[in-house]
Amino acid sequence: MYDIVIIGGGPAGGSAALFAAKAGKKTLLIDNDKSMTKRAWMENHYGIMEISGPDLVETGKKQAAKFGAEIVTAQVTNVSKADQGLVVEVEGQGSYETKHVILATGAVVELASQIGVTIKEGTEPRIKNVVDVDAQGKTNIEGIWAAGTCAGVSVHTIITSGDGAKVAINVISELNGERYVDHDVLKTN
Ligand SMILES: Cc1cc2nc3c(=O)[nH]c(=O)nc-3n(C[C@H](O)[C@H](O)[C@H](O)COP(=O)(O)OP(=O)(O)OC[C@H]3O[C@@H](n4cnc5c(N)ncnc54)[C@H](O)[C@@H]3O)c2cc1C
Repeated sequence: MYDIVIIGGGPAGGSAALFAAKAGKKTLLIDNDKSMTKRAWMENHYGIMEISGPDLVETGKKQAAKFGAEIVTAQVTNVSKADQGLVVEVEGQGSYETKHVILATGAVVELASQIGVTIKEGTEPRIKNVVDVDAQGKTNIEGIWAAGTCAGVSVHTIITSGDGAKVAINVISELNGERYVDHDVLKTN
């Protein structure tokens, strides 16, 4: 059983996968490789002078994989309740059991709507509908969280990746039973 399955591998999902895997959680990232970020060129992502969307997303996935996140390229078709946790169904690849799911599906909320997650009107330009989440990123279904564009945040990579990290930290904290922080300290000679 996975601790966290993340659906969507753009900046929100990739960042969530990085934090989850680095925290030692058994993490699976499933992405259909249709990220809107593949068309973007960034000069407003703090700390990076300029980067293409594809490079940002690929680097993020590599960072997550470095800490043990498993990455699958596929379409998720369903998420349902199991005796314990949730079952994530993937087109042509069977299913995966998990304690938590983070939806990070970008501008697409069809899957969320299909599985009974509450949807509301979006506020950001060109984003029609989003998942209704609380301040932590929780949806109306226990164990299902949402982050990034699909959770209604401003559609910029610094914000969607930060939101993915925020929600992952909240899930990790819930799994650990205490607030989680991930601070590496500068090594000095
Ligand atoms: C042309 C363009 C230019 C941009 N320029 C900038 C810029 O200069 N600066 C800036 O900050 N931002 C820019 N952005 C916005 C930036 O791309 C977004 O803010 C951010 O990347 C969205 O991240 P996300 O992870 O929420 O969504 P996405 O990057 O879209 O990732 C979501 C992923 O989930 C996948 N998915 C959805 N449903 C499923 C499913 N059922 N199964 C599997 N996978 C699924 C999607 O296909 C996608 O791969 C630009 C966007 C575009 C389109």
